[in-house]
Amino acid sequence: MLEETNPVIDPTSDLSEQPALNEQDWAYLQAFHERMEKEHMEQCTRCNKKWYNLALNQDHVCYVCVKADKDLDTDTPFQFSANNEMDPGPVPTQLTGEYALTQVEEMLIARVHCFMEVRQVRGSQFRYRGHVVNFLNNTGKVYDRLPLLPSDLDIIIIRPAGYKRDPKMRKQFRKDFRVRKHVVRRWLEHLKQHHEGYRTIDVAWDNLDALPDDAFVDNELIIHEIADE
Ligand SMILES: [Zn+2]
Repeated sequence: MLEETNPVIDPTSDLSEQPALNEQDWAYLQAFHERMEKEHMEQCTRCNKKWYNLALNQDHVCYVCVKADKDLDTDTPFQFSANNEMDPGPVPTQLTGEYALTQVEEMLIARVHCFMEVRQVRGSQFRYRGHVVNFLNNTGKVYDRLPLLPSDLDIIIIRPAGYKRDPKMRKQFRKDFRVRKHVVRRWLEHLKQHHEGYRTIDVAWDNLDALPDDAFVDNELIIHEIADE
């Protein structure tokens, strides 16, 4: 807790003579760095999750696994273990970095769609960020032919009439809407080769062809325009 009030600075004094941080500030800074030093990434030996404060027990098993497995029979594999096919392992290096999927790219190659997503773009005169609400559909859709096109997605964008003219409004969700054909293609080919649930899918080459090389697809989604706020 900071107990000191900020010192009053005398504008007539020579500021360059005074240290930027007083003793108390130094103490806070050092205490902060000491605490940060103690924070380490942990790893659960059962589910392989890596994160902070996993509350590992003596066997280095995280609290989520301990809870999930507490009533298991001895011959049943642990719930989040590789034996139960719940550990996909590390993301292959050819799918990381610039090949990390954006939100819409992820949706274009997902087999199961069970949400209707509504995004509201805020008007330009407000500083709010846009809203996202997900509604669970009664029946999920399962696709055997992928990728989808942006216009197939159950995303509705509610936006003010001036949206197209206003770069600030367009920025609110833009990075989520970026689609790159070569990234979608690489993921789809990888999944088809390595993922049990994707082995039998048909690659929709016509859809893949129709995706942009690298563009924002916000105008291809379902759009509901409202009067400007
Ligand atoms: Zn775990």
